[in-house]
Amino acid sequence: MTIKSREIRLASRPNGLPKPTDFELAETTLPEPGAGEVLVQNTWMSVDPYMRGRMIDRKSYVPPFQIGQPLEGHAVGKILASNNDNFTKGDLVLSMLGWREAFISNGEGLQKLDTFGLPPQAFLGVAGMPGLTAWGGLLEIGKPKSGETVFVSGAAGAVGSLVCQIAKIKGCRVVGSAGSQAKCDWLKSIGVDEVINYKEHPSQAELMAALKAAAPDGVDVYFENVGGDHLVAALEAMNMNGRIVVCGLISGYNDTEPQPGPWNLFNVIGKSLRIEGFVVTKFMDKTPAFIKDLGEWFAAGKIQSRETVEHGIENAPTAFLKLFSGGNEGKMLVKLGDE
Ligand code: NDP
Repeated sequence: MTIKSREIRLASRPNGLPKPTDFELAETTLPEPGAGEVLVQNTWMSVDPYMRGRMIDRKSYVPPFQIGQPLEGHAVGKILASNNDNFTKGDLVLSMLGWREAFISNGEGLQKLDTFGLPPQAFLGVAGMPGLTAWGGLLEIGKPKSGETVFVSGAAGAVGSLVCQIAKIKGCRVVGSAGSQAKCDWLKSIGVDEVINYKEHPSQAELMAALKAAAPDGVDVYFENVGGDHLVAALEAMNMNGRIVVCGLISGYNDTEPQPGPWNLFNVIGKSLRIEGFVVTKFMDKTPAFIKDLGEWFAAGKIQSRETVEHGIENAPTAFLKLFSGGNEGKMLVKLGDE
């Protein structure tokens, strides 16, 4: 048995915002799985902002994608055929071999998925890497206390929407910023106290004023997903001993010229602020504690998650590009096949 699989390759390194022509759809024929190997058919794949960084040829915490090679990223799939004692036909598996419909593996890097009753694609979002990012970044670094004010940028995305809800569970007042009225309405519906549609406040001064109005008692924890004017506004609004959790800086990911740094960094001194960045892998060994918390919160109806779904491998680049135009509410996913 051979199987045809389509995949998305990097055609060229993007300059600025990626273009559809930076991606190439190609077809390959996979051989029969050999001794010790499995054939996996992907059913869901994730697109994530960090993948933009991997399109740049530079040294980073993950190696760059190579031109002409398929892209990589988290995916959920099912075992179609197995010659490996650790996997049985029909098993659901998590891998880093997204951006393709199917692949052969010797089992290395494949994780059998116990879904705990959640839909499998949740392990690409709220119960997966973005979920762990939100949980670890907020609780381990931000350390919010009940009664404090937490400001979250990129609040309606995969990471941000969970940060908002965890902060509410911890008894905080939450201010969220997002790029549309529909996103702000959704955030309100899941308990966010104040919302800022940052597109209605296009200048730095307007965003600063909007945050001051939304957080009149100041901000104790800022969960940074965006950078740029959001960071300037947050620095201005922070309270004494505030914490800034630097998770992402998406407003600069497609810049061709470096953004100027925040002019009001002196707030870090006067207000004794702590600014700390992190990569989610820092919290990998805490995954069981994260899953336990998440399970309890879901069971108690305290967490809601949203997904935006594109269909078919050919639409994976479109899904990826939507991350930079705000075309996703909650987790952006691509559905590749049926479970
Ligand atoms: P999201 O689901 O939040 O999708 C990205 C969102 O970013 C878009 O929907 C858009 O929403 C917003 N956005 C895009 N461009 C801009 C811009 N110029 N200014 C303001 N907002 C913008 O993605 P994730 O939840 O997966 O990731 C959120 C952040 O967390 C990213 O910065 C990512 O890099 C980071 N991250 C960091 C990790 C780590 O280990 N440190 C791990 C995972 C994610 P809107 O409509 O509101 O503009």
